[in-house]
Amino acid sequence: MSLGISAIEYINGIKNGTITAEEFVAKTIEHIKKVEPKLHAFISLNDNALEQARAIDKKVKAGQNVGAFYGMPISIKDNICIKGGKTTCASRMLENYTAPYDATVVSKLNAQDAVIIGKTNLDEFAMGVATEFSAFGPSKNPWDTEYVPGGSSGGSAVSVAGLESILSLGSDTGGSVRNPASFCSIVGLKPTYGLVSRYGLVSYANSIEQIGPMGRRVEDVALLLNHIAGKDPHDPTTIDNKNQDYLSGIDSGISGKKIGIIKEMSSGSGLDSTVASVFKNSISAFEKLGAKIEEVSLDMVEYTVATYYVLTTAEAGSNLSRYDNLRYGYDLDSEGYEFKSYISKARRNFGPEVTRRMILGGFVPSAGFAGKYLLKALKVKSKLKKQIEAAFSKCDFLISPTVPVLPFKFGEKIDDPLAMYLADINTVTANLTGVPAISVPYEVKNGLPVGIQIHANLLQEKQLLQAAYALQNTTKLPEVPL
Ligand code: GLN
Repeated sequence: MSLGISAIEYINGIKNGTITAEEFVAKTIEHIKKVEPKLHAFISLNDNALEQARAIDKKVKAGQNVGAFYGMPISIKDNICIKGGKTTCASRMLENYTAPYDATVVSKLNAQDAVIIGKTNLDEFAMGVATEFSAFGPSKNPWDTEYVPGGSSGGSAVSVAGLESILSLGSDTGGSVRNPASFCSIVGLKPTYGLVSRYGLVSYANSIEQIGPMGRRVEDVALLLNHIAGKDPHDPTTIDNKNQDYLSGIDSGISGKKIGIIKEMSSGSGLDSTVASVFKNSISAFEKLGAKIEEVSLDMVEYTVATYYVLTTAEAGSNLSRYDNLRYGYDLDSEGYEFKSYISKARRNFGPEVTRRMILGGFVPSAGFAGKYLLKALKVKSKLKKQIEAAFSKCDFLISPTVPVLPFKFGEKIDDPLAMYLADINTVTANLTGVPAISVPYEVKNGLPVGIQIHANLLQEKQLLQAAYALQNTTKLPEVPL
């Protein structure tokens, strides 16, 4: 029994009796113990995982109703609440915070008999692209531990790529599911805004972020989406998806579909030459699958990174203001402080990136500057939306490299926030416009993974997963060198 099997293979194994949940979970825990000192995918582990697996095996044996995941180990980013467990957001600020309720996605996974194996590492409050901003130390890329795994859902991607879980949930505000998926050679989907409930996800920039499924195979991601999508009374932004089955017909192919190459994301000086050549190979593969390819220009893309950082810092400034040590925070003795100095002392427990964003977030919407920054950003966002709508009136899918650069070494970008922010140029458009986008692992060049990004129109996840599945089957990836 290999830990590298797909979610679908796991379920079949349980059904035909070749695997038990207990065996698989026990083997996973043993493997986690072995690789964690090197990879650091997790912030905390579930001490009851084995016991839960045993209870599920019992139900299988007794012929009782068993949920769709049959005890499958699934990891969860540590900005998603699990009742009674720590939810740290990889921040000193929430180091000892215990969530009083389950996120909707967690309730849904529990109802389907998943075993939540642990909470994964992230950049503090999901701000970053390398998991280097975790207050508890970075996660390492399993393909080469000198390289970052991407971020901010780096721990989730590492846990899946490093065979420490079959599936994972991350969150994607500007690429945080797709970027680490690309850097770690796994699949990551940012669903349409509103398709998956955000109830129980700690907000960073709630008007554009989504929880997204991650796995080693496209069909596994489709399966996970089946069980987390849909209307939730706790989140008024959610959409009724009529219980779509994203897995059925996933092998329908894309013959005759129109694919647009987004010019501004696939050319120019910021694009690494290795990434460019892998992207070219993926275009030939799409052509061989019978798709029609054309180039599409979205000239607003040039302004998206600036727009994204204006809008997200403004939202973060507001969302994170609750961490004032009065409502949420750590233990700080208030003796001898007046209000202002108390709050500013309390906030010193934020790391450097979160601090930078909160300062910016106070500035961009402030009187005298809002017109120059916030309102302008909102205008770019609506123009970009119009351009995407026009592109999807001509094309079924829009493609680009997921990230314009290869995974980089630790420390390479940490002191240069602008260089770091530019790594988001290909991913933020999906968040700013609400459309779904997926990263499909395509090649591993000189030991470093490269992913291809496919966007589809709003709520077209079924078609998007079919395209991703077709692309996946045109490539054979090497095994991760664990
Ligand atoms: N890199 C982006 C940021 O730092 C995206 C983060 C995310 O998607 N959560 O904001």
